[in-house]
Amino acid sequence: MTRRKKDRKGTLRSSFIIMAVMPVISLGIILAFFSTNRFSKSIYTEVETELENTALMVANIYDMMYPGDYSVVSSDTLTALRKGDKYLIETIGFLENIYEDTDSEITFFYGDIRYVTTLENPDGKSMAGTRANVVVTKEVIEENRSRFYKNVDVNGRQMSAYYLPLHNSDGKTVGMLAILRDAETVNKLVFKSVIPIVVISAIAMVIVAAFTLLYSNKIVVKLEKIKKFLLMVERGELNAPMDETIMSRDDELGQMSRAAVSMQRSLIQLVERDALMSIYNRRYANKKLYGIWEEIGVKGARFAVSIGDIDFFKSVNDTYGHEAGDQVLIEVARVLKKYMTGKGFVARWGGEEFLLVFMDHDVRQAEAALNELLERVREISVRYDDSEIKINMSFGVVGYERPKNIALKKGTDKDEAIAREIENTLKQADKLLYYAKTNGRNQVVSSETCV
Ligand code: GH3
Ligand code: MG
Ligand code: MG
Repeated sequence: MTRRKKDRKGTLRSSFIIMAVMPVISLGIILAFFSTNRFSKSIYTEVETELENTALMVANIYDMMYPGDYSVVSSDTLTALRKGDKYLIETIGFLENIYEDTDSEITFFYGDIRYVTTLENPDGKSMAGTRANVVVTKEVIEENRSRFYKNVDVNGRQMSAYYLPLHNSDGKTVGMLAILRDAETVNKLVFKSVIPIVVISAIAMVIVAAFTLLYSNKIVVKLEKIKKFLLMVERGELNAPMDETIMSRDDELGQMSRAAVSMQRSLIQLVERDALMSIYNRRYANKKLYGIWEEIGVKGARFAVSIGDIDFFKSVNDTYGHEAGDQVLIEVARVLKKYMTGKGFVARWGGEEFLLVFMDHDVRQAEAALNELLERVREISVRYDDSEIKINMSFGVVGYERPKNIALKKGTDKDEAIAREIENTLKQADKLLYYAKTNGRNQVVSSETCV
C-alpha cells in the first residue's frame, strides 16, 4: 500500500515534468532541424557562388593569358594538356597559389581525365591522370552544362565541387574545369551555425524543467498534505487539522481540502452524534467521561453525573405512533442541549434515556439545575395531528469530587481504575433514577436527598 502510494507520488511529479519538458524538446528538435536545413542551404549557395566565381575567374585568366584551343599532346614519354601553345602543367604553381588563397582545389580535365590538378591522394601523389566521376562526365561534358555538386566522390574524398565545361573555338566541349572544396569543411560550417540554436534550446529546456520542477513540487507537497490529512482521518483521528493556507486557496486544491474537511465533519457527526437527535451518542459520551476522569486525576475537580428518562414514553408511542414519539425525542434533546450549554454536556444514553454531566457543580447545584430543567421539559408541547403531546421526566443525580493529584494505589492499572469509578458513578445515578421512577416519577432524586 505504502509502496504503491510512493510510486504514484513519483508518477505525478514526473508527469508534470514530462508535460512541460516534452513540448520544449519537440520545439528544440524542430528548430534545430529547420535551422540546419536553412543554414546548410544558404551555406551551400554561398559555397556554390564562390566556387563558380573562382571557376569563371580561372577560365577567363587562362583565355586571356593563353589564347587558343585546348589540346592534348601525346608522345612516347609524355601526355600533356595544352592551351594554345602553353603546357598547362607549367601553370601549376599559379593554381596552387589560388588553392592557398581560396582553400579550393583546381583541376583541368580534358575529356574525363585530370591533366592538371592541385588534388593529391592521401599519399601526397598528384591525382593527375585519374578519371572524373561517371555521372559528372555525363552531366557536364555530354550535356554541356555547368554543375554544382554538394557531395561528389573524388577518388574516395567527399567534396563540394563546381564544374565548368571547357570549349574550343569550334564550340565543342572538350573538357571541364573543376573547383572543389572538402565537404567536411562545408559541413563544419553548417554545424557551427546550428550549434548556437541547439545550445539555446537546451538552455531553455533546462530553465523550463527547473521551473516546472519547482512549481510541480509545490503542488505535490500540498497534495501530500491533503493525503496525510485523509490518512489520519482514515485511521480514526477525527480531529486531524487541515493546513489553513491550502483551505484558503481558490483553486482545485482549496476545493479538495475543503471537501475533505467537510467529509471529516460528516464523519464526526456520524461517529459522535445520534442520528435522530444530533446530540452526542453513548459511545462518544463514554469517551468524554473517560477524558474528564483522566483530566481530574491531575487537576482535581467536582462535577455531577445524572441519568434522566422520559416517563411513560411507551404510552406516547402507543397513543400517537412512533413518528410522534420521535418528534418528542427530538424536542426533548433540543431543550436538554440548550439548557446544558455552558454547564457541561448531554448525550443520548439509550432509547429515551439521557446522560447529563454538570462540570464544576456539586450535587446540590446540579439538583437545582435539573429541577429547573425538568420545569422546561414539562413546558414542552409537541403538536401532532390535532393533539398536544406533553411529557415529564425523572432524573437521578450523583456528585463527584476529587482533590488534586491523588495518586492511584500502587499496582493499579489506570484505565481499569477509571473504568471502575465511572461504572460506580453511573450505577449510583441509575439507582437514584430507579428510586425516582418507583416513587412517583416526574422528579429529580439526588444522592443528597435520598440517603
Ligand atoms: P418509564 O416511565 O418506566 O420509563 O416508562 P416508559 O414507557 O418510558 O419505559 P419503557 O422502557 O417501558 O419504554 C420505553 C419506550 O421507548 C419503548 C421504546 O419503544 C421507546 N423508544 C426507544 N427509542 C425510541 C425511539 O428512538 N423512537 C421512539 N419513537 N420510541 C423509542
Ligand atoms: Mg421511560
Ligand atoms: Mg427507559
